[in-house]
Amino acid sequence: MPGDPDLQTRGRLVRSLGALREMLPGSFVERKRACGRPNCHCADGKSLHAQYQISALVEGKPKVFHVPPRMVEQVRQQVAMRRRFDAAAAAICGINLKRFLKQKENP
Ligand SMILES: [Zn+2]
Repeated sequence: MPGDPDLQTRGRLVRSLGALREMLPGSFVERKRACGRPNCHCADGKSLHAQYQISALVEGKPKVFHVPPRMVEQVRQQVAMRRRFDAAAAAICGINLKRFLKQKENP
């Protein structure tokens, strides 16, 4: 059925996945820390240094990867792509489940 709105939605979702191919796993983490140098601006405990990380499971084990400052914006977007990918996959599965149930009722 070419006019089936579910199939149109599924097609649109599948086509959107290609744009997410640079996705990265895990979550993007911002940490604040003091470097320990007594004369640094961070010694007041307020103007702390920002540190960026990816926190992810790799082969089932939790890992943390440092993100260099020049890559922060790029990596933030790449991690966000994974969430959009998961949302699209869940929506596709929802449509397919609905279709499965319908096919089961009407063989
Ligand atoms: Zn410092």
